[in-house]
Amino acid sequence: MALKIDKENFELIKAYGAESYPLECCGFLLGKQNDGDKEVMITLPAHNARVEQESHHRFLITPQAFLEGEKFANDRGLDVVGFYHSHPNAEARPSDYDLEHGWPWYSYIIVSVKSQKAEAVTSWVLQDDRVKFIKEEIIFVN
Ligand SMILES: [Zn+2]
Repeated sequence: MALKIDKENFELIKAYGAESYPLECCGFLLGKQNDGDKEVMITLPAHNARVEQESHHRFLITPQAFLEGEKFANDRGLDVVGFYHSHPNAEARPSDYDLEHGWPWYSYIIVSVKSQKAEAVTSWVLQDDRVKFIKEEIIFVN
């Protein structure tokens, strides 16, 4: 199981994270799944519904935003294959909040942002029993 992404979208996610600092950014990963691997073709920023509350360390994509993201993907023959969000001043690994609110199957890219600079980027999939996230490999494609 791996997540394929091109360098341009990968850099975009880092740029969104740096731009939003010290707040969190979040958005959709749109693409396709083939043979268990997912491939990201479009990164789509989502409205961060928690911006005025606790966006320093929590992201939330509302059901409304999710439907819009899904429609955007379907209109282009793609699916929502995951989400990205930033962890300002924190490591690029899922928080307790992420575990509580994550959905199985989807890929979760997390970018750590420190002093406005994007650092580590990782990708995770929540186990079906929702006990923990498993780290997945990020593979660069052209
Ligand atoms: Zn998080």
